[in-house]
Amino acid sequence: MITRTLEQVARMAEAELSHDKWKDVQIEGVSIDTRSIQQGQLFIPLPGSNVDGHKFVRQAFEKGARATFWKKGVDGAPEDIPLIFVDDPLIAMQQLARSYRDQTGVRIVGVTGSNGKTSTKDMIAEVLSSTFSVQKTKGNFNSQLGLPLSIFELEKDTEVMVLEMGMSDVGQIEILSKIAKPDIAVITNIGESHLEYLGSREKIADAKFEITTGLKNDGAFIYDGDEPLLQQKISSSTFSFQTISFGETDTSDLFPLSIELKDNGTEFTVNTIPQTPLFLPVLGMHNVKNALASIAVGQFMGINEEKMKRALAKVTLTSMRMEAHQGKNDCLIINDAYNASPTSMKAAVSLVDSLEKYHKKVLVLGDMLELGKAEKEFHQEVGSFISNLTIDYVFTYGRLGQFIASAVKEKSEEIKTRAFDDKQDLKESLLPLLDRDTVVLFKASRGMKLEEIVEDIIG
Ligand code: ATP
Ligand code: MG
Repeated sequence: MITRTLEQVARMAEAELSHDKWKDVQIEGVSIDTRSIQQGQLFIPLPGSNVDGHKFVRQAFEKGARATFWKKGVDGAPEDIPLIFVDDPLIAMQQLARSYRDQTGVRIVGVTGSNGKTSTKDMIAEVLSSTFSVQKTKGNFNSQLGLPLSIFELEKDTEVMVLEMGMSDVGQIEILSKIAKPDIAVITNIGESHLEYLGSREKIADAKFEITTGLKNDGAFIYDGDEPLLQQKISSSTFSFQTISFGETDTSDLFPLSIELKDNGTEFTVNTIPQTPLFLPVLGMHNVKNALASIAVGQFMGINEEKMKRALAKVTLTSMRMEAHQGKNDCLIINDAYNASPTSMKAAVSLVDSLEKYHKKVLVLGDMLELGKAEKEFHQEVGSFISNLTIDYVFTYGRLGQFIASAVKEKSEEIKTRAFDDKQDLKESLLPLLDRDTVVLFKASRGMKLEEIVEDIIG
């Protein structure tokens, strides 16, 4: 963060300083956690699940905090340290982030969507880094808290910041978009995550579309052209910003002319730079689409083709997202155990289907969580989808995973299926199948911890 005086911070947060004598205190950053707070930072006490953050204010100062927010009405406000009185610490923190963003000349790219936010954010940042000085959301800091904290990390010389925006309910993306005021807004896709809370895919699309509420008038909206719900939104409204779609076919502005899967990545060309073959060192059609989104951003920002090509060739994704590993007996392991939804599971199994070089294709699939009332049907639907593919084995793990197995069994006689409720049993059944002709995909929701099996069969 660029240093601000406490007087400036109070004004930016639209809040009151406890005493004028503190007005020149220098604030060098913001923290909500005394475990990681650094010298010179402003501490923001938030309500925790067990303990209220105000209990940690003293500890924050012992560790170097220079000032703290203090919620009006909370007893015991200390007089010997600089306080900023606020109505609500979270809202004041968001207001502070909004003001800080406005004071910098940085250009912001906001990325939301049901799947692929982090991957696309990483690709966009890589592409932009070829030409600009870039910062991006660290890891998955995409929430109502994480996004403001990411903005506070903005440094003086940064030209572009790429921010991931996540949500679990209506209205949240609007808040984030109005804080970040993106110059470019990206929607990677609309899936089924959060169906449990939001009720329908239309509502999910509406919630993601909120990203346009803070978008600059002269900016660009870059979106998944394969999603009819987004196409409808675009055609039923008028905007001053530019709209650019990316997708699998020529109905989108950007689409792949050719795609060739390799063991260690994907070769492709895109219609807007047909003479430049591109290589992406990650697997999956969905990652080609994520890359198209990053190319659209790059082209809007005027990045030249050669630089874009070099940038895409060195993309690395945050872990457990379509990672390719050499497994026991030289088999290929694809670890996509970071998370799963029906859309992303279908995308990942389709990739395995297309890997012609492997004669034994094994899917290890676990529960997809948080799908709401229709959770059983979603698993059965994935099972039916798999039954039409060239797959040899489907091993499932978990209470819901078994519905994938039963749907495959019902529709396909060729595919061997087994449902497990114990990881050790699953691993023991898997080991004898591994050889150089085998590819194994691991995919499930985060809570299923499938990586515990992956670790044992790598190398
Ligand atoms: P989170 O909501 O946890 O932040 P995210 O949206 O950031 O997730 P990523 O972490 O990039 O998504 O990817 C998670 C998984 O989603 C990947 O492992 C991959 O299986 C799948 N995925 C990535 N991109 C897409 C896409 N464009 N369409 C469908 N699935 C995708
Ligand atoms: Mg993410």
